[in-house]
Amino acid sequence: MPDRQDANANLFAALRAAFPADLDACAIEGADGEQLSYSWRDLDRGTAMLANLLASLELEPGSRIAVQTEKSVEALMLYLAVLRAGYVYLPLNNAYQSAELEYFIQDAAPAVFVCAGPHFGWVSKLAFQAGTRYVFTLNEDRTGTLLDRAAHHGDQHQIAARAEGDLAAILYTSGTTGRSKGAMLSHGNLLSNARMLKDYWDWKSGDVLIHALPIFHVHGLFVASHGALLNGSRMIWFSKFEPRAVIRRLSDATVFMGVPTLYTRMLAEPTLTDEAAGTMRLFISGSAPLLIETWRDWQQRTGHLILERYGMSETLMLTSNPCRRADGPRKGGTVGPALPGVQLRIQDDAGQPCATGEIGHIQVRGPNVFSGYWQMPEKTKEEFTADGWFKTGDVGQQDAEGYVSIVGRSKDLIISGGFNVYPAEIEGFLNELPGVAESAVIGVPHPDFGEAVVAVLVAKPGAKLQPTEMMAAMKGRIAGFKVPKLMLLAAELPRNSMGKVQKKLLREQHAKAFT
Ligand code: AMP
Repeated sequence: MPDRQDANANLFAALRAAFPADLDACAIEGADGEQLSYSWRDLDRGTAMLANLLASLELEPGSRIAVQTEKSVEALMLYLAVLRAGYVYLPLNNAYQSAELEYFIQDAAPAVFVCAGPHFGWVSKLAFQAGTRYVFTLNEDRTGTLLDRAAHHGDQHQIAARAEGDLAAILYTSGTTGRSKGAMLSHGNLLSNARMLKDYWDWKSGDVLIHALPIFHVHGLFVASHGALLNGSRMIWFSKFEPRAVIRRLSDATVFMGVPTLYTRMLAEPTLTDEAAGTMRLFISGSAPLLIETWRDWQQRTGHLILERYGMSETLMLTSNPCRRADGPRKGGTVGPALPGVQLRIQDDAGQPCATGEIGHIQVRGPNVFSGYWQMPEKTKEEFTADGWFKTGDVGQQDAEGYVSIVGRSKDLIISGGFNVYPAEIEGFLNELPGVAESAVIGVPHPDFGEAVVAVLVAKPGAKLQPTEMMAAMKGRIAGFKVPKLMLLAAELPRNSMGKVQKKLLREQHAKAFT
């Protein structure tokens, strides 16, 4: 472990070094109705006090600090303080209930748990039973035992020395396909990815970020927060996404990051115009597929081409459409080429490289790739190839310029009558049909075909969909084995909090459709 401060590979040291010289300038301001303002000095002092509190607990090196709270600037400061003190941050989705939490607590054995005040009773019971030593509370309104205790600590703190390979965070995968696994990310993984994105997305002095994403996930916690902090940029902080309020604040900002649903919800607001987005430099989308219609509508309404990028908890950001014109065009419907420093290849089922345009398994390598799943050495081994590439589990193709298009998760692939059906292809087709707002295509057990293609459709407001006619219309246009054998109508698709359609849930719901 390095002992000189200038050699400290602690991610917090790099973020702190990027604070502007004027520490009294605003670092984070609350969105409408949240009259809060935090200077860079507040961030420095607040994280120092919290880090001193953690240090006073005399925890084992490598201790996990698990956090399940509402989004707040204090919760962000807690994340930064955990880095600063050299412990391991473990954020948990605030939608998780007791059975899920019990699993995470048993699996990760955190030394400290920070929860919302109203949950203290049941959370502390679960946590103390599993050996957790301290449970603190942190509420949205800046109350709770965590801040009460931190208030008694000094506001100076020497950043803990950490090496690049030391663990900084564990992110449990969202588990849309199977049991949630803890991806172990090091200071080096996080910092190398953040530095590369700062350059590739051309962060400029004067940039202001609208932060409207949750901070328990890679997108809001790492990509958005690190981006602004490493650039010394102000953030406009939304505890919750509210489309009208975000549109109102666009004129004070230059950068916005969102999952596709945030874009569709803003498109539903008449106040979204090119004038409203006049000061904006960059709109970024990721975490789930962005429909080409959304991309086109956004361009038409605001004049901006959304920059779509692709990444995951285990690898951080992998590909991105270019930001600067000199780096190439932005192509809708693709997630762009591999980011600088990231190696990406597409392989067929036999482990051979795919030709341009051929669909296969996406594998990656680079300083951004995690070291493995927490306490799952066997699972980790399975997910890496013998020559050290991580199998993302995503299926896609690359065009002649290296731009990647994601076709789906390999576990979502449908094999019907021996033929591969890629859900994204069928969904793209269905979404173009009149009256269709969105669709999800899944495979369910079928006595004859092994699996049968089933489509779940959501109609546009006021539209009436006729599944039988739609199936007939498709038959002449795509191969028969790709045409859904069953089309179901739904009011909405089941999504998790990052906007991902939960196909596992749909498959369970319709498992008996043909048997
Ligand atoms: P998570 O670890 O929760 O961030 O989930 C990562 C997964 O989200 C990836 O493996 C992809 O399946 C999906 N994903 C992320 N970004 C995109 C994107 N731009 N388009 C399509 N899928 C995406």
